Amino acid sequence: MIPAILPTYQRSDIAFERGEGAYLFASDGRRFLDFASGIAVTGLGHSHPHLIEALTEQANKFWHCSNIFTIPGQERLAERLVAATFADTVFFCNSGSEAVECGIKMIRRYHYVTGNPQKNRIICMNGGFHGRTLATIYAGGQARHTEGFAPAVDGFDHVAYGNLNELRTAVTPETGGILVEPIQGEGGYRPAPEGYLKGLREVADEYGLLLMLDEVQCGNGRTGKLFAYELEGIEPDIVATAKGMGGGFPVGACLAKEEAAQGMTAGTHGSTYGGNPLAMAVANAVLDVVLEPGFLDRVAETGAALGTALAALVAKHPETFVEARGVGLMMGLKCVDAIPSRDFVAALRDVGLLTVAAGDNVVRLAPPLIIDQSHIDEAVGMIGAAADAWHGAEAHRA
Ligand SMILES: *Cc1c(COP(=O)(O)O)cnc(C)c1O
Repeated sequence: MIPAILPTYQRSDIAFERGEGAYLFASDGRRFLDFASGIAVTGLGHSHPHLIEALTEQANKFWHCSNIFTIPGQERLAERLVAATFADTVFFCNSGSEAVECGIKMIRRYHYVTGNPQKNRIICMNGGFHGRTLATIYAGGQARHTEGFAPAVDGFDHVAYGNLNELRTAVTPETGGILVEPIQGEGGYRPAPEGYLKGLREVADEYGLLLMLDEVQCGNGRTGKLFAYELEGIEPDIVATAKGMGGGFPVGACLAKEEAAQGMTAGTHGSTYGGNPLAMAVANAVLDVVLEPGFLDRVAETGAALGTALAALVAKHPETFVEARGVGLMMGLKCVDAIPSRDFVAALRDVGLLTVAAGDNVVRLAPPLIIDQSHIDEAVGMIGAAADAWHGAEAHRA
C-alpha cells in the first residue's frame, strides 16, 4: 500500500524533536552533531535566538499580503543584497528550483527583448543539479532525474564541467547563456578548477551570453564569501540562491544585473509566496548575522581548519577515503569504490554524526557556519571511529 506520504524519498526513521546550535535531538533522546544542516540550509545552526526573534516578531504582526502590495521587508532585503553583491535587482521566490527557473526565463527573455529570440538555449554542465521542476531536471540533465518525464523541456545543452574548450565549441548562434554551479553540490562537492569562472565570463562576453551561477547550495556564506563568485573576483549576470538564505525558512532569490533583467517587466513572472513577510523577516535576520564584520572571515578560517583535519583523516584512512575536497564549510569526503558513500553516511549517523551522501561517492559535510574547532574535532573523531569500525567489522567477517 502506498504510504500517506508520497514515497519519493528514502527516509531514515529518525525523527527530530529539537535543535540547538550544531546539535539535533531525536525523539528517542539521541543527540546528533549536525554536519548536514538540512543539506546546507540551516547555516546558522538550530534555534538561533536572532532568527527566532525575527520570525516571531513578524508572526505577531501579519503573515501574508500578496505581491500586489508593497512589502517593506522585501525592499529592505533586496536593497541589502544589491549593496552586498554584483546585483542591481532581486526576485524573491521560495526554493532553489524556482530561483533557477527565474534565471532561465530571464536569459530567454533578455535575448527576446534585445532582438535575438533565437538565442534561447543554455549551456549547462555534466554532473550539475538545478532542482526538480521540469525545466530544472532537464537543465541538470541527469538521466536518473529525467527518466519517465518526457517530453523533455528543450533548450539545454551539456558539456563537461571545468572544460572551457568543450564549452567554446558548444556555443552556437542559438546559445543565449551559461548555467553553472561554482562548486557542484549534488555532483559531489566538486569545486570548479581555478580560473574556470573567469574563463566562463570571457566566453560569455565574447559571444554575448548571460552568465548565470547556481549558488543555491554554495551561496550565503558557505564558502567564506557571501557568494562563491567572489572567490574568483568575477561578476556574473544572474545568480540563483536559496538554501542558506533563510536558515531553514523556505526562501529563494534570483539576483541579476540591470542589463540581464531588462526583459522581466510587470506581468512576466510572479510567485504567490515569493518574498512573503515571514520569509523576508528571517532572511534579513540571517543577513544581519552573516554580514557582521568578521563573520565570513571566521567561516573561511573554520573551513580551512576543517579542510586540514579532513586531509589528515584521509591520510590516516586510505582504506576508506580517496580525498577530501571543497571550499570553506562545503567539504566532501570521497570514499573508496568498495564503500558506497550512502552506506558510510548511515554508519556515521549510527555514531551520532549527520552528513549527506552526494554523487561521485562523496560524503558531504555542510556544518552550520557557526561551528568552532571543538565541533571539527568531535566530527573528525566520529568519522575516524566509523572508518575503523567499518574495517574492523570487515576483518571480523573475514
Ligand atoms: C538544492 C539545489 C537546488 C534546488 O533547490 P530546491 O530548493 O530543492 O528547489 C538547485 N540548485 C542547487 C545547486 C541545489 O543544491
